[in-house]
This record gives sequence, structure tokens and C-alpha cells, in this order.
Amino acid sequence: MGAEGGSPGAEDAGPGLSTSLAEGLAAVGGDRIVLDLAGIEQRYEALCRELPGVRVRFAMKACPVGEVLAALGRRGAGIDAASPGEAEQALGAGIPVSRMHYGNTVKSDRDIAAAYRLGIRDFATDSLEDVAALAAHAPGARVFCRVATSGEGAVWGLRDKFGCRPAEAPRVLERAREGGLVPSGLSVHVGSQQLTPEAWHSALERLGGVLRALVRRGIRPDQINLGGGLPALGYLDRRGHPLRPPLEQMFAVIRKGMASLRRIHGGPLEFVMEPGRHLVADHGAIRAHVVRLAERRRPDGQLQHWLYLSCGKFNGLYEMDALQYRLVFPGHTEGPYVPAVLAGPTCDSDDAYSSEHALVPVPRALASGDPVWVLSCGAYAVSYTARGFNGFTPLPYTCTGSHGRPCVPTDGRDGRDG
Ligand SMILES: *Cc1c(COP(=O)(O)O)cnc(C)c1O
Repeated sequence: MGAEGGSPGAEDAGPGLSTSLAEGLAAVGGDRIVLDLAGIEQRYEALCRELPGVRVRFAMKACPVGEVLAALGRRGAGIDAASPGEAEQALGAGIPVSRMHYGNTVKSDRDIAAAYRLGIRDFATDSLEDVAALAAHAPGARVFCRVATSGEGAVWGLRDKFGCRPAEAPRVLERAREGGLVPSGLSVHVGSQQLTPEAWHSALERLGGVLRALVRRGIRPDQINLGGGLPALGYLDRRGHPLRPPLEQMFAVIRKGMASLRRIHGGPLEFVMEPGRHLVADHGAIRAHVVRLAERRRPDGQLQHWLYLSCGKFNGLYEMDALQYRLVFPGHTEGPYVPAVLAGPTCDSDDAYSSEHALVPVPRALASGDPVWVLSCGAYAVSYTARGFNGFTPLPYTCTGSHGRPCVPTDGRDGRDG
């Protein structure tokens, strides 16, 4: 059967299914993403408790939904925006611009000017070219330099494209100062869905080294940005085993690293963090349906079951090549089960679990139209979706569970309100 971790029963579906999310999923009639705002708020509060004094700025690309931004904003969270478009959306959701920064090192002159006009005064950077553009188009702004990490230990490493080598960071911030900008700090990103405390340890050591070099050169930044990368808790690996990230240990390493950075700095030093996935992944799920459970013969003659779902790589499960999701089959709490390849509805062969994925146990009695809940897909589902590939429109979403407010059903073609 392969996937012993992927228990199909709702009762032990793991960290991705709270009671309120299950109620939200059961209440919707058709396919949609259900986001549990109360769960997202609780995860935010838990993070604030674990890392006291760290200001949280949600990396909104993980779930650019107005209700989610507003719920986090009401609790005091800010936003890590990666474009003027994101900043505008966050402003519309009621996040004050003073709680936003521009966290993308990649930006055109026009993007910088637009963000500056919106009132953003904090920018990430990692190159002399970007610093020159910031000096020209965001005069006097605060800039923090992103230091590259190896990305080792993460499911998605984010290497190469971002950050400068530690030895180059002081030069970048010196140039910022020469250009009339305020060299305000340093940032890192350990890689998305980072699974090892060691990666946090080495990132914090790296920051410490750069901070020492800055202090020697008379630059005393006032802020360290620890980036994103904190994990979702409900994913299975490709073989179907729960990932079980050692979250407590990571927090302990981060707290220790923060204390050490404060010692190196010697003055007041603030900390910011930009979690995306960690805040939303386990509090969102997709209510999809069975397209077909089919038994087909492989080229070598062996019989194999395929479970085609109404959602897949192009509508909600963009990250399916690196993971397995926990599944719940609400109408089928008992077997018998058959091992199947999971696939989405489109005519693209990438829209399926790969040959590196274990087969998934699915109820043999599944019929076309039966509901399926795909858990822990609150991150990067609304945002990573094709426009209507093969005529499959983006999934609409519903928010449930905050302040007793009613659900906000959305049915627009692009999944948004209005
Ligand atoms: C995407 C991104 C994040 C969020 O990453 P997660 O792994 O989802 O936490 C944070 N900061 C920056 C700069 C990013 O690009």
C-alpha cells in the first residue's frame, strides 16, 4: 500500500484538520478552497508567543486573500510585500503602510517609485545596482541587505536567485549610506518549508558574522529580518510519510541566535519575521470531487489504479510534485482501499503525482462526484493557479471561523470577491 502515513480517515487526519475547518468543508456544496481564519489567527498568536518581541510581517504571496490579511492585521501583523500590487491590496485590507516593507530584492525602477508613492519606506536589497535604483527612486528610504543561504534542509531552497555573499553585504550597505539611504539591517530566508534547526543555526551564525563586520565599519543596523521558511505541520513527503518538522527546536535555535545577535550588536536591535506558509498552510483545505477512479494497464501489463481529482497542479495543488497531501474521503470512512496514482483533471501529464511518489490508499468504492478534502493547502493555492488551463477555472474560496462573522462565499471566475 505504500503510504502508511496517509491515513484516509478524518479522525486521524493530523494537523491539517481542525473542527472548524472540517465544519467549513462539510458546509460547502461545490469545489472551493476553505480558509479557517480562526486557525490562522491562532497560529499567528502561537508564533508571537514562541518568539517574543519579533514583529511578524505576513508574506502575503502565500495567501493573498483580503479576509486573511485583515484578520492578521487586526491582530497586529504587518505585510511583506513583493510588488506594488501586493502593497496596494494590503492597504485595501486595512494594513497600515508603516507595517509593510518591500521584501523582494527584484524590482524595476518603476516598481520602486510606485511603492515609494504608496508610502513604503523599507526595502530589501542585495546588489549595488538595486541600491542605486533605490537611491534614485526611493530617496532616504531604509534598506536591509539580504544575505544568501544554502537552502539546504528546505523542501524549496530559494537559492541562487536571492541574497549576496556575506562578504559583500557590508559593501552593499555602505553604498546605500553613500546614496543617502539608511542602512537599516540584514535579512535571510532559510528556504521554504525548512525542516532542520541546523539551517536556522547556520543562517543566524552567518548574520552574526556580517553584523560584526558592519559594526567594525561603523554601520549599526537597527533591525534583523529573519525571513520566512517556517514549516507547515500537515504535509506528507512524496513517500507518504508525515514530515514532522521539529518546530520547537527551531524556535529554541532562533531565540538563542537572536540573543547572540543582540550581544554582537550591543545596542537596541529589533527583529522582524516574514512567515508565509507557516501561518496559513494547515488552516486551508480544498473541497474537491472525484472525477474518476479508473483501473488501467501500464505499458508493462501491470494493472494500476488512477484517482483523478477535480483539482491538481494547475488549480490548487501547484506544489504536488514535492509533496503528498493528506486526503479525507467524507463519504467513505471505511475501506476496502486500493493503492492509486493521484492526478488532476487536465490534459497535462505533469498534473499528477510523479513516479517518485508512493501510491495513495483510496476507497475502492469512490464514484465520480464524491467529495474529497485535500488538507494543508492553505498556502500557495489561491496564488499559484492557472488562469483557466483546459477550461478549469481557479477555485473560488470561502473564509470561515473568525469573530462569528458569516462565511464570505466567492464564486467569481478568478476566485475573488466581486
Ligand atoms: C516567499 C517569501 C517569504 C515566505 O516564505 P515561506 O516559506 O512561505 O514562509 C518570506 N520572505 C520572502 C522575501 C519571500 O520571498
